[in-house]
Amino acid sequence: MPGELVVLGSLNLDLVLPVGRLPTPGQTVLGGDLRRHGGGKGANQAVAAARLAGAAGFVRLVGRVGDDPDGAFLLADIAAAGVDVSGVVADPGSTTGCALILVDDRGENIIAVAPGANGRLDASDASRAAGPLSAGDTLVCQLEVPVPVVAAAAHAARAAGATVVLNAAPAVTVPADLLSDVDILVVNEPEARALGAADPAALAARTGCAVVVTLGAAGAAVAPAPGVTTTGPVTGVPSHPVDIVDTTGAGDAFVAGLALARHRGADLVEAVRFAVAAGALAVTAHGARGADLSPERVRALLH
Ligand code: ATP
Repeated sequence: MPGELVVLGSLNLDLVLPVGRLPTPGQTVLGGDLRRHGGGKGANQAVAAARLAGAAGFVRLVGRVGDDPDGAFLLADIAAAGVDVSGVVADPGSTTGCALILVDDRGENIIAVAPGANGRLDASDASRAAGPLSAGDTLVCQLEVPVPVVAAAAHAARAAGATVVLNAAPAVTVPADLLSDVDILVVNEPEARALGAADPAALAARTGCAVVVTLGAAGAAVAPAPGVTTTGPVTGVPSHPVDIVDTTGAGDAFVAGLALARHRGADLVEAVRFAVAAGALAVTAHGARGADLSPERVRALLH
């Protein structure tokens, strides 16, 4: 396996309550059994990358949890999936991030997130993530932790010659200095529009990054970075017909697959093919981390 793959991002405890129908403001509804599982885009992407690699200890996660039982639960869960959690700090001054999720019979949901320790990342976390990186390594970030910390890590990683993958989710304002340190920008369609262009080629021209726009059941569209490769037409990569159980976490599996394949030397379109297969597998099981993302299953889908 070449170099190190580091994910800088959020860890959340997801509390999921199935309800017959979502409550309106002021209304109380009774739900089914409360489910409690690990979430957060950073942790989800690290776990998916470790599973897709089929190798323990090669993906390192950097972030924060509270110094509390929820944090200990998350760390044990993520470590059991083969992720190196030595870069996750148990912050004594805060509580573990938590997402409250109501899901109705049709799969519609209402989500509110208490960022907790995820909101307390600072320059020391950026250094822990990017400090050890060099050429051949990869840094993967999202925007559920403070954007200036992501920008500092991306800047240091880029300066060290590592590849920087940014999943600009959720759709918050992304400063130009961060984008200038990103090699591959991954967004879904609403996030692409929030950055100023739904078309991948237009977004690549605007940001200077290679751009991958995920399109749900339609797969993904890719545009190379302007000037890095000859700017060609946008390449569409169709998805695979699968039995859809739950689309939660498809985007995270996609980002993990893309970063991993690129890290191993695949060209951009090849890496997106791998990512599309990972995303398709993710929708075949419940929850953000419920799917079997083994290398064998991805290979089977690709051949
Ligand atoms: P989420 O927020 O639900 O994790 P997202 O909005 O970030 O998802 P999507 O574009 O919905 O991202 O999905 C990411 C990738 O997962 C798609 O590019 C595709 O490869 C795969 N995928 C998603 N939905 C389906 C589906 N119904 N069938 C097959 N593949 C899918």
